[in-house]
Amino acid sequence: MPIKSLLVVTTIFGISLTSLALQPTSEEQATLTPDGVLEELKAGNIRYKTDQPLASDTPARIELGNTGQFPKAYILSCVDSRVPVEQVFDQGLGDVFVGRVAGNIENDDQLGSMEYAVAVGGVKLIVVMGHESCWAVKSACDYIKLGNASALLQKIRPAVRSVADYSSKTSKDKEFVAEVVKANVARTISDIRERSEVLADAEAAGNIRIVGAYYHLKDGSVTFH
Ligand SMILES: [Zn+2]
Repeated sequence: MPIKSLLVVTTIFGISLTSLALQPTSEEQATLTPDGVLEELKAGNIRYKTDQPLASDTPARIELGNTGQFPKAYILSCVDSRVPVEQVFDQGLGDVFVGRVAGNIENDDQLGSMEYAVAVGGVKLIVVMGHESCWAVKSACDYIKLGNASALLQKIRPAVRSVADYSSKTSKDKEFVAEVVKANVARTISDIRERSEVLADAEAAGNIRIVGAYYHLKDGSVTFH
């Protein structure tokens, strides 16, 4: 029985809703749709913003996790400490795969991880999420050089160059940085489709959706696009 149905039943009998906030089982995952998972993430973000998370039954989730994993989504995010991915969407153990790298860029290893998540893990949705005031994007805007980070920042530069119509193309212009963050997400999604036949085919067949998102530091909200 889908978790949502269980929640309805427990409401009727007055039992705590939170005790049944568990990750999907194999049967429940099979009933999920890309659009449904997206709506669940949007609802989870509202719970996060309003400080009303579903209290997770962690011991039960750990126990259920021993039988396997059947997550809903793969979320590619920046490493920024102000963007705690599972919390942002009020998700718990077993709910989502999370890939994190500064600037939320895709590379061979991220692509392989996403392909695994879709083909083996059965997720219905891939989210590429950038965020306001991203250090990596700001550093790419300013052509910062720093050890191994230089090569990483190089991968964000095409997004920097793609945003025109700003006289000052530096990190000092917050609007410019926000536009580059969004362009970087769009480029990452475009690269995913171009470089992964597995994911492009899954999306074309309607088995998954690949969507972009922007996390607002000022209020914790996520805008999908
Ligand atoms: Zn960042």
